Amino acid sequence: MVRSPSIMISRGRFGSTAAQVLEQARAAGRASRDEIAAASGLSVATVGRATAALVGHGLLRERPDLARTGVTGRPGVPVEIDRDRYLTIGVHIGRRIATVAVGDLTGRVLDSTTVRRPLGAAPDLDRLSRLAAGLLGGRPGQVPLAAGLVAPWRDLGLVPTELEAAWHELTALPVRTGDHISAIAAAEFLHRRHGTRGMTLYLYARDTIGWSVAVDRNGQTDVTRAASLTHFPTGSHVSCPCGRQGCLAATVATLDDTDRARLLGEVAATIRDMLSPDQVVLVGQAFTGVPATLDDVVAAYDAHSALGHVVPVSFTRFGSDIQAISACTVALGPVFDDPIAVVEGQACRRGA
Ligand SMILES: [Zn+2]
Repeated sequence: MVRSPSIMISRGRFGSTAAQVLEQARAAGRASRDEIAAASGLSVATVGRATAALVGHGLLRERPDLARTGVTGRPGVPVEIDRDRYLTIGVHIGRRIATVAVGDLTGRVLDSTTVRRPLGAAPDLDRLSRLAAGLLGGRPGQVPLAAGLVAPWRDLGLVPTELEAAWHELTALPVRTGDHISAIAAAEFLHRRHGTRGMTLYLYARDTIGWSVAVDRNGQTDVTRAASLTHFPTGSHVSCPCGRQGCLAATVATLDDTDRARLLGEVAATIRDMLSPDQVVLVGQAFTGVPATLDDVVAAYDAHSALGHVVPVSFTRFGSDIQAISACTVALGPVFDDPIAVVEGQACRRGA
């Protein structure tokens, strides 16, 4: 199994005050300064200063139309992430297709386009940057702040730092890269606001199969580990391109829907028994593409787990749009690391 760098989803109290306020607004959807102070542990005065800076830079917007009396008796004007001013660019490079997307600062995908690419060829970044420019051209007045690049790097034989530098050269934006499976886990975590305490195991299955783990430590959350299950031994006699027999991906490819569901359920139970997470989420078109077999997956998972207590298992809500969503989630990284600096850096480049 191969480890990959972690993706930080939520910085919690280790973030700057601006980052903490922005994260609280994102998590709540909309919140007053009092509510942000209570949730973050920051003082109301600190939250007030950070909120003013974020509103001034166009990252948050006030909603006086929704004002209500707060806990201190003062009217609380809620703030929310400004979805209309800034954009992110997310690029997902797969084995056969590449997806370019633009998203807003909540991680929502606004527009995307997917193109075929030759199997085994190096990514055509010039072409992808023209596609990104086309998507941005449809949104005059909105400014891109950061970009994300996601791929199953090792499976494709690509070096993420090289593509990161090249994409930065083409876009002049801060760029963050993410492993395919970790990025999908990050997207799933970001868009699901409840039921993600402690450790969440994500098992992904489509062309590639693997798992990753998100750990929430009192509000600081990152995807700490990811591993490929492509060559996970199943005991079957199916030959794999790696030269061995019984590797999971090669075996799954030979099975009908029901047997595939059963095997994936058993593998999920095995990984769950190894890691002992608080909840399990199954992700990818191998699950979402065949909804009729989801009961078979859960039955095999329950039957195969050697541990006594039940760990809840659920399926992702995302379908074929998961590539665009995961890339736009990774693109949020530079924004939530240092929101004010990202806006000021972009203003400098545009002014130059
Ligand atoms: Zn193999």
